[in-house]
Amino acid sequence: MANLKSYLSALLYILFPDNCLACGGVIEEEEDSICSICRFSLAKTNFHLDDKNIVAQKFWGRTKLNYAISYLFFRKEGDVQNLLHGLKYNNQPQVGEILGNWYAQELMDNDFYKNFDIIIPVPMHPKKLKKRGYNQSAYFGKGLAEIWKIPQLENGIKKLSNTLSQTKKSRQERYDNMKAGFEITDLEAIKNKNILLVDDVITTGATLEACANLLLKGGAKTVSIATIAAAQS
Ligand SMILES: [Zn+2]
Repeated sequence: MANLKSYLSALLYILFPDNCLACGGVIEEEEDSICSICRFSLAKTNFHLDDKNIVAQKFWGRTKLNYAISYLFFRKEGDVQNLLHGLKYNNQPQVGEILGNWYAQELMDNDFYKNFDIIIPVPMHPKKLKKRGYNQSAYFGKGLAEIWKIPQLENGIKKLSNTLSQTKKSRQERYDNMKAGFEITDLEAIKNKNILLVDDVITTGATLEACANLLLKGGAKTVSIATIAAAQS
């Protein structure tokens, strides 16, 4: 029976081969979503080895980040753009998880991952989330969390769709949340924790800044950020 099953899956693969989501080429049966050639030619930033990297610099004077790191350089009309497009618009959330797994493995080398207790993804607007069906940043966080064996609080921060739902909060908390446009769902869960905020790609950094400031104000010990990709300049 097992033989028949593997025979059928091999046959299916021959009839309907999968394509690499980065280059569009046919991928081998044992590969998942991204071919080996693309995997090994991804442009890595190695920002974790450089405290003064361009993403860290973006936040100087805006918020206090312990680390600011990105896995890949974003290149227009290239492999990384194709991957992010699939992740965000083509119902390919597994891309986020795979890249999270790979990045997490690289950061295991020098114990870098020990700087973090929990992972929180940047939240999506509820309407957008409903339309897409998943939060792509949470898939990246899931990929990291699986390898590091630390928890991800998928709904640790909520994007506020309106500000009227906060009746149980103190006046100061309500004010902070409203200003940020986000709310921390469980203050106890983040208290004194070293938090890694994750997002798919960094552009202006405004959302990450707002979330980081809110977490620090809410009692987090340290906040760091990690994104799948960052622009080169
Ligand atoms: Zn490829």
